[in-house]
Amino acid sequence: MIPALLPNYNRADLAFERGEGAWLWTTDGRRFLDFGSGIATSSLGHGNKHLADAIAEQAHKVMHVSNLYRIPQAEKLAERLVANTFADSVFFCNSGAEANEGMIKMMRRAMYSTGKPERFRFICFEGAFHGRTLATLAATGNKKYLEGFGPEVDGFDHVPFNNLNAVRDAIGPATAGIIIEPVQGEGGVRPAQLQFLRDLRATCDEFGILLGLDEVQCGMGRTGKLFAHEWAGIEPDVMSAAKGIGGGFPLGAVLAKEAVAKYLVPGTHGTTFGGNPLACAAGNAVLDVVLAPGFLADVGRKGQALWAAMSKVVAEFPRVFVDVRGAGLIQGLKCVVPAGDVQAAFTAEGLLTVTAGDNVVRLVPPLVLTDDDLAQAVEMMRRGAARVQAALDAAGKAAAQ
Ligand SMILES: *Cc1c(COP(=O)(O)O)cnc(C)c1O
Repeated sequence: MIPALLPNYNRADLAFERGEGAWLWTTDGRRFLDFGSGIATSSLGHGNKHLADAIAEQAHKVMHVSNLYRIPQAEKLAERLVANTFADSVFFCNSGAEANEGMIKMMRRAMYSTGKPERFRFICFEGAFHGRTLATLAATGNKKYLEGFGPEVDGFDHVPFNNLNAVRDAIGPATAGIIIEPVQGEGGVRPAQLQFLRDLRATCDEFGILLGLDEVQCGMGRTGKLFAHEWAGIEPDVMSAAKGIGGGFPLGAVLAKEAVAKYLVPGTHGTTFGGNPLACAAGNAVLDVVLAPGFLADVGRKGQALWAAMSKVVAEFPRVFVDVRGAGLIQGLKCVVPAGDVQAAFTAEGLLTVTAGDNVVRLVPPLVLTDDDLAQAVEMMRRGAARVQAALDAAGKAAAQ
């Protein structure tokens, strides 16, 4: 008989009952250091008092009223995002896929409203991940995820990542824009070259098409800037955000320039839950922390330290790892052996991580992790790698006998 909870995930047999900072405790009393953050989402870690208090206080006042009314918490959050990014206006929703749907609709509507309704297609990238709704699945383009869910939503063309010639060749009279993750997350922690992002901006301007960034995973402070594209010194026309922006509370956002945003007039797009007082109280509490003086610079410093320490571990275990790559506190360990085996060895040492495409183990700790947490994680990864190495040696001996 099918379990009551739909078994559509391969869940690890771990259940957590509480957390503090970067640490989680299971119901049977074991302690784990969390370098997964619920897939790069628990940006303030676990049990953050400022965030929990903000949510509790708002819950006692009013949680939800719908977008039939003004929502001061949403106005405040939008104003703060506008003040700190390229954007002129923000639409709130509840998840990353929904933010990307909103971004896609906004880009199409802008083309339609400026007399170019034939421009409805998007150039996306191999290795991308944009979500699981029908349109974002098509934007993702991963055949494995699309299987059995056809017909595929039309309008998404895929080209190799970091390849400008392929992008330019793919632009046609039906192209509305380009959608890219500045750092591919699910695809294996693959950063776009900064020059590639600059070239995409110039190419969009040259062809009169729009640049849409998916910063659902790499945004909201994860790379040491509020949003990852800032490293390239460019501004997109539209950008999606989610994951870390609610610190674990479901919240998504589409941030846009006025020239694109202005066409989503009343009646064109909407959501029941999106931007409700509770979610925006969470979003504002997260921003309080992330925008505090020195916070982002410290994320950058910790990211550098993690990368440097893991570069040494990679060099110590060349039969386990190929390299370490990423930006700030989104780093990926590309493995020689199956990434799942490495992840299991880390878990056995008390460290939670997430696998990603391209045989990578993803390291996405809470942004608030301490230097001591970081040092402990590196030691756990060194011991985990030694376990994998020992298993390889044992298998080698057995084969030689
Ligand atoms: C996780 C993710 C999404 C989808 O977000 P959901 O909240 O799961 O819908 C979209 N884009 C990127 C880059 C992601 O990492």
